[in-house]
Amino acid sequence: MLIIMDAQATSGQIEHVNNRIKELGYQPHAIPGTTRLAIGVTGNRDADDRVHLESLPGVQQVILVTKPYKLASRETQPEDTIVTVGSVRIGGGDVVMMAGPCAVESKEQTLRIAHKVAEAGAHILRGGAFKPRTSPYAFQGLGEKGLEILAVAREETGLPIVTEVVSPVDAKLVAHYADMLQIGTRNMQNFELLKIVGEIGKPVLLKRGMSATLTETLMSAEYLMSHGTRDVVICERGVRTFSSHARNTLDVSFVPALKKVSHLPVVIDPSHASGNRHSVIPLGLAGIAVGADALLVDVHDDPEHALVDGPQALPPDDFKALMQRLDRLAEALDRDLKPNRYAAEVGS
Ligand code: PEP
Ligand code: MN
Repeated sequence: MLIIMDAQATSGQIEHVNNRIKELGYQPHAIPGTTRLAIGVTGNRDADDRVHLESLPGVQQVILVTKPYKLASRETQPEDTIVTVGSVRIGGGDVVMMAGPCAVESKEQTLRIAHKVAEAGAHILRGGAFKPRTSPYAFQGLGEKGLEILAVAREETGLPIVTEVVSPVDAKLVAHYADMLQIGTRNMQNFELLKIVGEIGKPVLLKRGMSATLTETLMSAEYLMSHGTRDVVICERGVRTFSSHARNTLDVSFVPALKKVSHLPVVIDPSHASGNRHSVIPLGLAGIAVGADALLVDVHDDPEHALVDGPQALPPDDFKALMQRLDRLAEALDRDLKPNRYAAEVGS
């Protein structure tokens, strides 16, 4: 349910409505960014409550939200959400680039690559300290040591950090270091993880499950939002199909479909979608062309020796070429690829 308050509703009336919602055993959620004050209601089951709530002083209208996801739905919030990570705004029309190594392997490797992506104009640094690996024998990430390295990279480049959290046990630790928490494709329906990460309240990059529908993806976003965070960005990273020429199939049709039903920003990850370097630039450009708000790209300066996902990593020069092509594409789309702070400070 969505309660639309009168434009002249007093703060006392708003408080009264919030209290009634809680007394009924439901949760009120203030919907920001709207021209009128709206209160989302989740947890409601009784259709009669609508009539009751509509009769309260200061209430203009109560609308039933038909989608199973409520807070993530455009019915609840018609305006696009803008998620702010550090000083970077995702979803306001600018083209945003998140880039870095798939995994934090060492301090030297991470700092070298961080400086390279910052120089090329990336806005957010990616890097996994906790890695969800198919094989238990594969490199699992440096854990907290990796987070400490990312914090140094942020300090040196000024770029905010997005890094993955794979377990509820580590959620607070990762949140202590990260500016944005990534939930990977394998964990999209780890509901206990979603609840804890939602409660932390930091921005979240939620990757679509590799076989998840649009509705299932938004229901996972709903877990995060109903537990406290508003700042959810959805990432399309390819889905499993019969195609064997690539690791996954990038579903570009997901972007306009999601934008139609949800106000949340969308990111395309052309690296994990394809699994091969030569596809990353074309798929990244395609992602922005269909309306994605940002890209998430693996970059490595020694892909041959990368501990994770070397074959899909762009070397820094290729990454720079992608940024230059994106700049031209953004212009053609009446969008902006803003310089990052690092470029302003280094003066390049
Ligand atoms: C990643 O971004 O490092 C990652 C593991 O991606 P995904 O969850 O999409 O496989
Ligand atoms: Mn990876």
